[in-house]
Amino acid sequence: MTDKLCANCGQLNPAESNFCSNCGAREFRQMSRGLLSAANTGAIMKRAKTATGRLVQGVGVILWLAAGLATLLWTLYVLFASFGPLALLVALIAAPVTYVFAVLVVWFSTGTFPVLMLIPYLASWVGAILMGIGGSLAEDQG
Ligand SMILES: [Zn+2]
Repeated sequence: MTDKLCANCGQLNPAESNFCSNCGAREFRQMSRGLLSAANTGAIMKRAKTATGRLVQGVGVILWLAAGLATLLWTLYVLFASFGPLALLVALIAAPVTYVFAVLVVWFSTGTFPVLMLIPYLASWVGAILMGIGGSLAEDQG
């Protein structure tokens, strides 16, 4: 219990205190319920913010992995179908580059702009952004 507020220095003291642990004053102000509940609300809000951040981060990770993998597999398939196993191998070795330029790679491989591919491609970037936003939300303790 920390509900005795020193009238002299503002230090919070246990309810059973007879004098302030900080300055030794014997006068206390009872901490108002409003102030206590405001402090509780602040703590709850902070926890809610952290939980929301973690949730957003988790959704971002799942979205990024699932959509990113779909984009990569799609690109690898197109490369394999168009140029054979060697192209597949090169694309696998350079997987991050393949992923970043997936839409362009498929476009130049097939000669058709892969409109449908924009869905998983953009979704994976949204996932990456959510990961960043969620991470900063969860870590911000101020
Ligand atoms: Zn004091």
